[in-house]
Amino acid sequence: MKNPLIQTEGLPPFENINASYIEPAIDQLLSENRSTIQSLLDNHTNYSWDNLLQKLEDMDDRLNRAWSPASHLHSVADNDQLREAYNACIAKLSDYSTEMGQNEALFHAYEQIAQADSFNALTTAQQKIITNALRDFQLSGIALDNKSKERYKVIQQQLSKLQTKFEENLLDATQAWKKLITDKDELTGLPESCLALAAQTAKNEDQEGWLFTLEFPSYMPVMQYADNAALRREIYEAYATRASDKGPLAGQFDNSEIMREILKYRTEKAKLLGFESYAHYSLATKMAENPDEVLGFLNDLAERTKSYAEQEFAELTQFANETANVPQLEAWDIAYYSEKLRQKKFDISQEMLRPYFPVHQTLEGLFAITAKLYDVTIKQRHGVQVWHEDVMFFDILDPKGEISGSFYLDLYARQHKRGGAWMDECIVRKKSNAGIQNPVAYLTCNFTPPVGEKPALLTHDEVTTLFHEFGHGLHHMMTRVEYSAVSGINGVPWDAVELPSQFMENWCWEKEALDLFARHVDTGELLNDELFEKMTRARTFQAGMQMVRQLEFSLFDYRLHMEFATNQSLQIQDLLNEVREKVAVVRAPDFNRFQHSFAHIFAGGYAAGYYSYKWAEVLSADAFSKFEERGIFDKTTGKEFLQSILEQGGSREPMDLFVEFRGRKPSIEPLLRHSGITA
Ligand SMILES: [Zn+2]
Repeated sequence: MKNPLIQTEGLPPFENINASYIEPAIDQLLSENRSTIQSLLDNHTNYSWDNLLQKLEDMDDRLNRAWSPASHLHSVADNDQLREAYNACIAKLSDYSTEMGQNEALFHAYEQIAQADSFNALTTAQQKIITNALRDFQLSGIALDNKSKERYKVIQQQLSKLQTKFEENLLDATQAWKKLITDKDELTGLPESCLALAAQTAKNEDQEGWLFTLEFPSYMPVMQYADNAALRREIYEAYATRASDKGPLAGQFDNSEIMREILKYRTEKAKLLGFESYAHYSLATKMAENPDEVLGFLNDLAERTKSYAEQEFAELTQFANETANVPQLEAWDIAYYSEKLRQKKFDISQEMLRPYFPVHQTLEGLFAITAKLYDVTIKQRHGVQVWHEDVMFFDILDPKGEISGSFYLDLYARQHKRGGAWMDECIVRKKSNAGIQNPVAYLTCNFTPPVGEKPALLTHDEVTTLFHEFGHGLHHMMTRVEYSAVSGINGVPWDAVELPSQFMENWCWEKEALDLFARHVDTGELLNDELFEKMTRARTFQAGMQMVRQLEFSLFDYRLHMEFATNQSLQIQDLLNEVREKVAVVRAPDFNRFQHSFAHIFAGGYAAGYYSYKWAEVLSADAFSKFEERGIFDKTTGKEFLQSILEQGGSREPMDLFVEFRGRKPSIEPLLRHSGITA
């Protein structure tokens, strides 16, 4: 039987894919790619886009089409066999990628194409691919001597292994802890939705009572609503110590040593390539130009925000003291009293809004907004093979009714699924002999699942997350670029990649947009003006505290990767404490090991790049301000955003694209205004 991962047409046949196909598919494709490259290099002396680079594009695409479903399954339906196959393959893929990046003949071929007169006749996208590739050869160690090249390869192998292990430990630690409660009196304060979920979770495991886990939809409501401070503390401790040397599972899935190793190898790699630190190396592919610019940006925001955060925290402390006689707030009290204070000040809570956001209605709303902005139609397609019965599939149709992109939507938290929310590529848009290959995305969230027969009701936070991921999805699916290396989010500097996603969140805060879908699940009534008013006033509630929290993560990440270069005995915890001392207003308990689950930087692509969220939020808030000026459904502005940002992918510099759209360079004012920091 043919290996279902090796196919260049149609969607992945998920029902036929299992772990046993993964390694053979990757082995075969890597071996075929190696010999194809060799013969392409041997058969020509005069290299061109058509005789070399287009063929490399096609080859990469074939590999991506095999690896993408395998790696996706590893994230959303993990099991031992998948893990083993995945780990075997990332080692091989790491070697292959190093080998390509250090292939001198290939490098000279790129150079030849870049220097030829015909270079100017290539499209902007093609030229950008070549420029990026020449840069990436340098970043893969093309200029190193043979011994250093070999070392680079070892470092890359170790890093991919360690980063995967970090993620595995986190997933295992998250799943290993559960708390069964059989006395309902211990659960006062918890909303019905949370109790029902906990009861359903218990029932699924043949237990009586209410079962709580560390998955976000179970964890968060306890922090926000459980009157029982001891219970909050217990669950907080389990959550904040995952994969560490502390807490109920201390040492069992401990990431401590892995984190140090990751930092050590990253630093060595950066230095090998001639950078002062990994923080410097990271900027070689980003919009920000140097560490001073990043640190200056973060410190400036911290300075502008800190006093707001302090005032908010003082208000919260006073409130807890007056209402509950709690003199000092602990970390597990913050969300709880914040929720109470929010209700007192604004008479609103996440739970009050939930009935207005049944999942299917919310999706219809999101699609209606997208239709208004970009003149497309989104339609569900049934009968597509998926990896879990809850997964849905949709097509995006252009104004002529033709499919221009598609996506899988996997909404709910469940066992063996990585936490958080993200967009990933399944198929990338590109031109091929058969015509245009349409892009396909995976949109993954971890929302509260439906309980019993009722539809899933989302919190407004979850609605915002859905819009965010869909924004990434649109960047991937609305691209018009015809070459995969800069199509969609490919080739977009990491600190600009959160522009389309954070941009999309804005429509969750506009009455005109909410009126398209926010209707009460029982009564069908629209979210009325009064409730909307409250929601808007509460929008900037504790915005200062949220901002300094993001700045704490960003500064910790960036400084860690910078300072480790000069001080390898640096204690990660000490640096985190130092950063907290400077910017945080909430005191973290000594057992807190947040960093052990900071997968963004230790396992994901945000290493020395977590600042990207705030950096890109300047861009997204400023981009949205143009819609505030012209109307949030202004067709012309929608078209401009589509043409200048979404369609362009990574084919041009993000600053040029922004200036084209906005008519000027980005201003920080809209971000400060949206955060309530300036009027
Ligand atoms: Zn994002």
